[in-house]
Amino acid sequence: MAYLVARETEADLAGGPSAQGGEPPRRSPLSRALGHFGDWLRLHQKLIRRVQWVVVFAYLLLVAVPAFLPLPERTAHIWTNLTLFAQFAFWGVWWPFVLLSMVLVGRTWCGVFCPEGALTEMVSRHGRGLAVPRWVTWKFWPFVAFVCTTIYGQMISVYQYPKPALLILGGSTAGAIGIGYLYGRNKRVWCRYLCPVNGVFGLLAKLAPVHFRVDEEAWSRSRHAHNAGVRRVNCAPLVPLRLMKGNHDCHMCGRCSGFRDAIELAPRSPNQEIVEVAGAAPKPVETLLIVFGLMGVAAGAFHWGASPWYVEIKQDLATWLIDSGVMWPLQASAPWWIFTNYPDVNDQLTLLDGAVLIFYIAATAVAIGALVSACLYGATRSLGAYASERYHHLAQSLIPIAACGVFLGLSMTTVSLLRAEGVSFAFLSLLRAGLLGGAALWSIVLAWRIAGRWTKSPLRRFAATAGAGLAASIGVFSWALLFWIW
Ligand code: SF4
Repeated sequence: MAYLVARETEADLAGGPSAQGGEPPRRSPLSRALGHFGDWLRLHQKLIRRVQWVVVFAYLLLVAVPAFLPLPERTAHIWTNLTLFAQFAFWGVWWPFVLLSMVLVGRTWCGVFCPEGALTEMVSRHGRGLAVPRWVTWKFWPFVAFVCTTIYGQMISVYQYPKPALLILGGSTAGAIGIGYLYGRNKRVWCRYLCPVNGVFGLLAKLAPVHFRVDEEAWSRSRHAHNAGVRRVNCAPLVPLRLMKGNHDCHMCGRCSGFRDAIELAPRSPNQEIVEVAGAAPKPVETLLIVFGLMGVAAGAFHWGASPWYVEIKQDLATWLIDSGVMWPLQASAPWWIFTNYPDVNDQLTLLDGAVLIFYIAATAVAIGALVSACLYGATRSLGAYASERYHHLAQSLIPIAACGVFLGLSMTTVSLLRAEGVSFAFLSLLRAGLLGGAALWSIVLAWRIAGRWTKSPLRRFAATAGAGLAASIGVFSWALLFWIW
């Protein structure tokens, strides 16, 4: 199978060739500035740890205290009520804009600010230091953990109430601390394998225009020149430094900056990792996460509250149950940690509501996932005989539209909380349409570039791009339903 050679090298994009034959590499001012910033991160690890402590305390305060306070009055405001402030901080600012930051600066959130990352690494410094067992490294955790957290979050209304936020965020933090205590020494085993958003963050970070670039020739020269006395680097998320080809696993902590004169923070094309790297080591779990997770489960999770189909299914089932004389699923409710249950504010899910909610999200994921998979299959076949590498590589082209949909879905909470404070958004529809259109276009450009690496035939390349474009349009349509059609 032909996997054609890159036309645009990383060094071209960084403004200079990689060092060869002893010639000093030409570097653009941006390259130099980023390189200095990477070194600055390495030299200021103590400051970063202090920042992490501040974030840890703020996080613990905001996640724990509101759960023990009464629910806010109708007249309360973000700036006068800690529960509303925490809700806005977590779901209105942190969650959507951390996702956005992945696309802009890679996983800097993980390496510099994340309280769970900081806690798990700190605990692992003093923990048992056991070897990482196989169940932890199961490769489908990124998909399973994301799906379970997303669905469970909807079942208990995590964006609306403080107790569910404490349960889900606090549970994740407890997991991070427990895994840190048991496994690894000075490492972030939790972040690397089990964090529920690790897979999503890794996918989005592939789009970032900066990365820690490894110059393999400089590395080899350094090994020949001086192998002894080279400083040690503790890469907490366990990235094999020499083999690092992209942002997926790197937390951008800066500790390896300048290592062996071969690693530096550098600019790159936002397309580079997906077009040039992702095809060489295809990961089915990433395809699952893009197609069924971000485009499917996430869409269903944001849809159900506004969906006329959800209401229709529920009414039909309720009618059938009443006709059959079975009333308990319509009357019984479960504790708040199974299904939303706040009778004081008239917000309860009956067992029927909850069961239909789970069914609706699962059915949406299967429907969207199956349609998108069919488009990707068609795109792959148009490049020649079916090959899973091509299929998974083309699936990566959908990361922009998948990420954009989730960002827009999450930012609905931001918008509704700010609207409740009297803020108006005059151009919201236009902005949403622009972002969805731009992301779809980006996906199509990626598909075109990916297809160009698998075929020289313009016709086949066009057909593959059209297939992936159709898949992207399914993503656009699923969000258009929510924002403009329903
Ligand atoms: S590769 Fe590891 S040490 Fe280097 S910046 Fe990324 S996370 Fe830090």
